[in-house]
Amino acid sequence: MNSVLRIAIQKSGRLQEDSLKLLKESGLQFSNGRDQLKAQVRNFPVELLFLRDDDIPQYVEDRVADAGIVGENIWVEKQKQNQLIKRLDFSKCRLSIAIPRSEEYTGVSWLQGKNIATSYPAIVKQFLQKHNVQAGIHEISGSVEIAPGIGLAHAICDIVSTGSTLLSNGLKEVEVVMQSEAVLIATPDLETGKQAILEQLLFRIQAVQLAKNNKYILLNCPNEAIPKITSVIPGMKSPTILPLGREGWSSLHSVVDENDFWEKIGQLKSLGAEGILVIPIEKMIL
Ligand code: ATP
Ligand code: MG
Repeated sequence: MNSVLRIAIQKSGRLQEDSLKLLKESGLQFSNGRDQLKAQVRNFPVELLFLRDDDIPQYVEDRVADAGIVGENIWVEKQKQNQLIKRLDFSKCRLSIAIPRSEEYTGVSWLQGKNIATSYPAIVKQFLQKHNVQAGIHEISGSVEIAPGIGLAHAICDIVSTGSTLLSNGLKEVEVVMQSEAVLIATPDLETGKQAILEQLLFRIQAVQLAKNNKYILLNCPNEAIPKITSVIPGMKSPTILPLGREGWSSLHSVVDENDFWEKIGQLKSLGAEGILVIPIEKMIL
């Protein structure tokens, strides 16, 4: 029988849209109806399972799913026998400790003897142990940020992205416990057929990620500037250089990392580059 890799993704919520987008950009074709539990991918040996994010590490450990996409925060909290295969560069957030704004925070020792409300008891426990602080952990599953206001706890540990939820609940962020992003996890010892599918998928995901982090760049320059410009934007192997109709000028094509993009543009201009065009790349394979 041919192998099919079963991948669990979030049924609805903050991870879902980008998880689906990544799989679609990796060339997987499937339809995802609203109340579907499963979807068959038409052109790749993958089946998708739509689950609550908290349940995904358990399903992967139990081998109901072979792999899953979940927040790193949930993966660490659940402490299951799953492998982190790849960080996926979306749903970035941090897990932080926050206390009422009126309190004066003196460092981690402020938490000594206090109560912390959280949906992440295992992570908070580890954090407290690491800092040698004894504090109570009050596990609640939602609306953690209201806990101090209603007298349930002195502090909270919850997900923060912009901090606006904390602000509107009179809290301030005092410690970052961990940074998180969506991750691809899998059971540690997949059978050979499934492992091969996972590797093919990973290859595609890498091509999509690499493309996102790079831009295709075209520019015109005087021929004498080519060596210096090449050293600024060496590209994958070397730039493509084509003669322009105008004597003594060339068109140079290369690839540039999104992160150093603006700095490089400045350098290129000062080296004599003109007519710079920057184009998104859809897939990139080294
Ligand atoms: P479910 O119904 O599946 O249990 P949920 O309500 O527990 O969903 P969501 O709020 O959809 O979870 O968040 C899912 C994950 O998205 C979180 O575990 C975290 O990794 C990430 N996340 C949460 N809030 C943010 C945010 N504000 N910005 C970016 N990522 C976030
Ligand atoms: Mg959840």
